[in-house]
Amino acid sequence: MNVRDSEVICGLLQKAGYRISVTDQDADVIIFNTCSVRKHAEDRVWSLMGSYKGSKIIGLVGCMAQNYKEQAFTRDANISFVVGPQDIDKIPKMLGKILETRGQSPNNGDSPRLLERKIWETEGKLRPEEIYHTDFYQDTNHAYVVISEGCSNFCSYCVVPYVRGPLRHRKHQDILIEIREAIARGITKVTLLGQNVNAYQDNQVNFTKLLGQVNALEGIKEFDFFTSHPKDAGVDSFKAIRDLDKLAKRLHLPLQSGADRILKSMNRGYAVKDYLALIDSYRKIVKGGRLTTDIIVGFPTETDQDFKETCALVKKARFNAAYIFKYSSRPGTEAAKMADELKPGDKEKRHKKILDLQRGISKEIRSRQTDAKN
Ligand code: SF4
Repeated sequence: MNVRDSEVICGLLQKAGYRISVTDQDADVIIFNTCSVRKHAEDRVWSLMGSYKGSKIIGLVGCMAQNYKEQAFTRDANISFVVGPQDIDKIPKMLGKILETRGQSPNNGDSPRLLERKIWETEGKLRPEEIYHTDFYQDTNHAYVVISEGCSNFCSYCVVPYVRGPLRHRKHQDILIEIREAIARGITKVTLLGQNVNAYQDNQVNFTKLLGQVNALEGIKEFDFFTSHPKDAGVDSFKAIRDLDKLAKRLHLPLQSGADRILKSMNRGYAVKDYLALIDSYRKIVKGGRLTTDIIVGFPTETDQDFKETCALVKKARFNAAYIFKYSSRPGTEAAKMADELKPGDKEKRHKKILDLQRGISKEIRSRQTDAKN
């Protein structure tokens, strides 16, 4: 989502007459489009921003901007503007004002600042449709296409609903127009993006209908989607994966934990048996389809037994690959209020153990596939 937002920002600025620099040394303005999902990512941004020491106009954009708001200016005095993900369309105007301000008080040694409002906040509305039509893509053959913004699931560890606002769906006609524009530029591969793509609904068009419409577009060779939520994913989307010739035969289905107690505490909305039934149905319908997942280790109160249950599920599910994360407490979320977070060393041990387990499974699957080919 952030990769696409960065393209949108570049496209909007280019349209407004700015030039995108290849290196940071050449740039007058540096915009950090940030993620707040894990603390580690935030720490890296603070440290990198600090390294510019007033020599550039620095903008903090994205989820950290929404998360820290005014506090960002206190934390780093070099920041000139802070814009949440819902308001990236306002960046060119904001930057224009900053440059005007700089013109009025030439080189007094201070970092230029916007004199009026420094922050625009989420209003919970869909972002203006124009932002998706700026004709800026990082890749010459692949485009990310946002189908829905925000999320209303409120998983207890996740900051996304707070920083990106509630779930909103783009109109299906607008999505198709954007893809046609990408095709006209020579793009043949597309990834449809949303925090919970299966919940997509625009009047009569649900997610599987949208998949059918994208598949029918001339010029598209392959497409996929990201991310599915186990509480909303189902047979319809699996059949679409099987039947639509251009849709990639793969599914990313975040599990997060293999212990019912933890899943409940995470507010994920499904139990282990539901997840297992879902992947069983996926494998029966999409023969040979790839399956990947996300797992969090060290969620508050996670016991040895809970962790063992997650490992048991990983063995049973035999994912092609898994993205395994150490739990990171995010201020403002429900999980951040929970006691009994694991010690970093214990988290590390569990992380390594499950990572090794999954690596072994991935390797085995790969070598079986190679043997079958030979
Ligand atoms: S589904 Fe849960 S984890 Fe995913 S973005 Fe929404 S709240 Fe976060």
